[in-house]
Amino acid sequence: MTVHQNLIAGEWVGSDASPNINPSDTNDVVGHYAQASAEDAKQAIAAAKAAFPAWSRSGILERHAILKNTSDEILARREELGTLLAREEGKTLPEATGEVIRAAQIFDFFAGETLRLTGEVVPSARPNIGVDITREPLGVIGIITPWNFPIAIPAWKIAPALCYGNTVVFKPADLVPGCAWAIADILHRAGLPKGVLNLVMGRGSVVGQAMLDSADLAGITFTGSTDTGKRVALASIEHNRRFQLEMGGKNPMVVLDDADLAVAVEAAANSGFFSTGQRCTASSRLIVTEGIHDRFVTALTERLKTLNVDNALKAGTHIGPVVDDKQLRQDMDYIDIGKSEGARLAFGGACLERETPGFYLEPALFTEAKNDMRISREEIFGPVAAVIRVKDYEEALAVANDTPFGLSAGIATTSLKHATHFKRNSEAGMVMVNLPTAGVDFHVPFGGRKASSFGSREQGRYAAEFFTTVKTAYTLA
Ligand code: NAD
Repeated sequence: MTVHQNLIAGEWVGSDASPNINPSDTNDVVGHYAQASAEDAKQAIAAAKAAFPAWSRSGILERHAILKNTSDEILARREELGTLLAREEGKTLPEATGEVIRAAQIFDFFAGETLRLTGEVVPSARPNIGVDITREPLGVIGIITPWNFPIAIPAWKIAPALCYGNTVVFKPADLVPGCAWAIADILHRAGLPKGVLNLVMGRGSVVGQAMLDSADLAGITFTGSTDTGKRVALASIEHNRRFQLEMGGKNPMVVLDDADLAVAVEAAANSGFFSTGQRCTASSRLIVTEGIHDRFVTALTERLKTLNVDNALKAGTHIGPVVDDKQLRQDMDYIDIGKSEGARLAFGGACLERETPGFYLEPALFTEAKNDMRISREEIFGPVAAVIRVKDYEEALAVANDTPFGLSAGIATTSLKHATHFKRNSEAGMVMVNLPTAGVDFHVPFGGRKASSFGSREQGRYAAEFFTTVKTAYTLA
């Protein structure tokens, strides 16, 4: 049995392995992956700390070459890595391959950023003094990621961390070690010096907790649930270190009477159900005005009937399985909760059997939902969406903003006035007009407000805010 090991101080180590199971076919073992201990995490942090002084002063051409070669290899292997991703996470092969391509684009972007590092030289308020302002790397960065984007989220944290001269301890979600291992392997072979990137796979309560408890991490960048994010925040305050949190969502998609029905239905079907609804930017609240409500519900229901739920690797599958049995139970529980709260299950919601044993769930659409129901307030993280009927645009905006979360928000309308007003007044970090709430570019800021996010934005040039610290130096002329 081949065990994919952890990478600590440039060595592949660890034998205590756990199987990585395919949610589309629970008889299929994707591979065996080492489980790190708390002690392994400490050693990884020590290795990253030892590697920091040299890496932080490394030449920009060295960093550029490593990130560019990593991008090139990911892109060249997109079909193989896409298959691995689809097997371990369950999103469809086209979605998975698209995510792999995005990871390559992110490494390419930050390879370019290594050549664009700048500072400022400004006059002092006092005569004969020069002032220069530079950005320096933070130190050792702890990276903790969720299971739903197994290659893109690690890429958008690892690439900027390395670009700006930090060293890394990377803990992926335990359900998806395959893509994490592949990235670490590619970066290792691309020539990263020992200890600059360390991979520790394993349980959050063990490996992740050991990272939170360390005094040697200068920063932690975390994506995952709001509950775990709070733990990261509290531990980071305790250790006086920088932290960045991307967490849950309950993203609204507003549909106005004047919407192009086909555009609205496609945006809602995509937002609510593609990637099995397992996107932080998924929309599970469809807020629809009275004049279009019935036509929208009928058309969306017809669209949902055309979506094939099946094995992620099978051609023609539109929706893969739920990621595991625990998440499937959570989705089913919320479907029961919705019914018991008085919402009407207008379509789907049944567990499905397919040729291969997996966690298949029919997309579920509720109607007659109210915004104070639990299905409208809590993140479900599955292929479950609820239609909330409202009177007009003003009520739609108020309902859209009436949520503890604030990641993404969408509106389907042909009114420039309403689109402009919504962009300005939505309490979300990202706003989409006539587009799904999910689906973002790799070169512009990503992040939310309220309980969805904390700290500076990820991705694009805004990533420098988290991964660097500013120094102001004064020199007597
Ligand atoms: P999770 O919080 O259960 O786990 C996230 C990571 O934290 C995993 O690596 C896990 O092992 C680790 N972890 C768990 N307990 C820990 C502890 N005590 N100490 C340190 N680390 C610990 O989240 P998940 O189920 O993997 O992911 C789903 C969640 O992620 C959803 O809420 C989703 O909205 C969110 N998400 C947010 C974004 C965003 O950008 N806002 C993107 C993707 C996913």
